[in-house]
Amino acid sequence: MYNKNSLDTVCGALCYALGIEAPNSAAPGNEDMKAFADNAFGSQKADRMFIYNPDAVAQWICDKYPEYIKDISELTQLQVPLKSVMPSVTPVCFGTFYTGVQPEIHGIRRYEKPVIKTDSFFDALIRQGKKVAIVAETKSSMSMIYLEREMDYFIYDTIAEVNAKAMELIAENRHDVICVYNGNYDSIMHKVGPEGTRAMAELKCNTDAFCTFVNLIKHYWKHHNTFYGYAMDHGCHEIDGESGSHGLDMEEDLNIRHFYGAIQGI
Ligand SMILES: [Zn+2]
Repeated sequence: MYNKNSLDTVCGALCYALGIEAPNSAAPGNEDMKAFADNAFGSQKADRMFIYNPDAVAQWICDKYPEYIKDISELTQLQVPLKSVMPSVTPVCFGTFYTGVQPEIHGIRRYEKPVIKTDSFFDALIRQGKKVAIVAETKSSMSMIYLEREMDYFIYDTIAEVNAKAMELIAENRHDVICVYNGNYDSIMHKVGPEGTRAMAELKCNTDAFCTFVNLIKHYWKHHNTFYGYAMDHGCHEIDGESGSHGLDMEEDLNIRHFYGAIQGI
């Protein structure tokens, strides 16, 4: 069975958590996320946001291997089942993630990485004077489809450099919103299958990276109300027992579960 709420409900909810106007055509914000933000911050709003975007971590992988994501569950307080969009490939899904609209509106409908012109989360943030950063690998969708905006882009060839920069930015405490993309699970999953030993090792790397970021945030951003998330684009499925793929209209590829947490500033 497909999850009920579309990935397009995330963008509006992120804007709600920050107390800013959502992008022009964004779908209504996810009700569970909005209620969670209200509960966490009371009459206040988040003034910091950190979104970690691992690629292709399917809901069924999270369900089947809970020990690999246990540390994420423990550091977050909300799990949001979502249905990604078709075709379930990275630029199409991150296009919907950060615009709040379906692919026919944002315009990326296959595996291509043009700059999205549709009003986005990042444009909504910039209008409110927020300082925003994307940290991602060279030629990844997240490093390309939201270019040409008045924000900071930190693009590196390796995950190690991406994550080191993200840690540095958290410590510098000068951005209001940081989005960090890691494509390591996806790239290995395609080669060895979603449950292959090397893919599972990458999944654990994603968990460890996320936990490191959250622990740094707890220290360096302790005077801020921070909303943070472990939030992927789509899932994946096995092909012929030895490799992996995604892009199809099937539960394995479309069902995902985001994890969100909140820290109230002191
Ligand atoms: Zn992807």
